[in-house]
Amino acid sequence: GTDIGSQKDRVVAEEEWLRKWETGSIWFHKERGHPLLQKYLDVLLNGRSGLRIFFPLCGKAVEMKWLADMGHSVVGVEVSEKALKEFFAEHSLPYCEEPVPEISGAKKLETTSGNIALYCCNIYDLSSSIVGKFDGVWDRGALVAVNPCDRQRYVSLMITLMEKNSSYLLVTVSYDPNKHKGPPFYVPESEIKSLFGNHCEIKCLQKVNDFSDKHRQWGLDYFLEVLYILKF
Ligand code: SAH
Repeated sequence: GTDIGSQKDRVVAEEEWLRKWETGSIWFHKERGHPLLQKYLDVLLNGRSGLRIFFPLCGKAVEMKWLADMGHSVVGVEVSEKALKEFFAEHSLPYCEEPVPEISGAKKLETTSGNIALYCCNIYDLSSSIVGKFDGVWDRGALVAVNPCDRQRYVSLMITLMEKNSSYLLVTVSYDPNKHKGPPFYVPESEIKSLFGNHCEIKCLQKVNDFSDKHRQWGLDYFLEVLYILKF
């Protein structure tokens, strides 16, 4: 397979993610949303309205508000409760909290209008019997944030959450994995094919240069975002 350097063995513990949120080290958050979702929204929606859309490892992604405002029903999952509370606060959305009977310690935070439901728990505790299946997925900062050793488990779960005829927009990143330990982790195209290939059609839509000062500080000399559409 393609060399992913020493990243293969790297593990980021849940506490480390919680600490990032506590200390505000959330360089991955895009206050103005992601231009690739704007650009390829039609590919995700495919002319359909009132979809159920899933945001794995959602953080406080503002794209959840965009899609809800268009009339879709949004479901997210995130370990950091702080992230989820900031999401509702920053968009002035009233919400209710309730326990999730199937998952000990988990909470569901839901807008009072019911169009955005965010699960505060580990994604591996979810199943289609708890959250149902989805017509669309926006996976940005999600597969690339999953520990490399957990990728197969993550993808197997995601596949069980996909409806027939659903679409999955996946953003990965490409850089020299010997120069930065991640996250985000480098996920080669060959691995996307081996992880998802038997279950859907995969098409690469675009590669964009996203190199910035932050990446230079990480010791990199190139950094690309790679967008795929997966059709189930
Ligand atoms: N998708 C978001 C956040 C990306 S950062 C965005 O585009 O802004 C990855 C997020 O996943 C972090 O907020 C982290 O707290 C969360 N996370 C990491 N591992 C997780 C897991 N196993 N289950 C649920 N959330 C997780």
